[in-house]
Amino acid sequence: MRIGVLAVQGDVREHLTHLREVGVEALPVKTTEQMAGIHGLIIPGGESTTIGMLMQEYGLDQAILDRYRSEPFPIWGTCAGLILLAKEVHGWSPARLGLLDITADRNAYGRQLASFEAWLEIPALGEPPFPAVFIRAPRISRVGPSVQTLAWHDGWPVMARAGHLLVTTFHPEMTSDHRVHAYFAGMVEACRSRV
Ligand code: GLN
Repeated sequence: MRIGVLAVQGDVREHLTHLREVGVEALPVKTTEQMAGIHGLIIPGGESTTIGMLMQEYGLDQAILDRYRSEPFPIWGTCAGLILLAKEVHGWSPARLGLLDITADRNAYGRQLASFEAWLEIPALGEPPFPAVFIRAPRISRVGPSVQTLAWHDGWPVMARAGHLLVTTFHPEMTSDHRVHAYFAGMVEACRSRV
């Protein structure tokens, strides 16, 4: 099983390391050709406008959409990656995939609270609580009826899933807890064993 990390900008290396540490083969994805060799994709945090524009310039947006529409293909977006997956965004974000029925408010925590840490109860991961790092995070201000919220913080959804799509407003690749990476690897594995 091989999982790709979209590698046009953002915290790519940390995701690759975490994937390898949970026993998954991990590849940076920079070209449309590299999309063929992977069974799931992580879109990392970074700057959503930059990632979106580069993704478009390299034709990766179309390659991801084609792959997603033609077969079960798990995608996990963290932070900026979540913004790129959201169907609706408040705050400028011109080039997106728009696959997941949520609304994301960019930089909703404002300047002072731009970055913070919190312990999250995530029933899908079990005990203990998950150490979550939020860096200029978006807020999920709406989830569609098909979307399941997996974790909340201060009354707002911070981790959500619909089918093969997973999003987190925080950065699991920046802590030493590997459970979200293992959870996503499980989604990819489940997909493959069904084919
Ligand atoms: N604030 C960034 C954006 O709007 C996201 C921050 C992140 O990915 N850590 O694109």
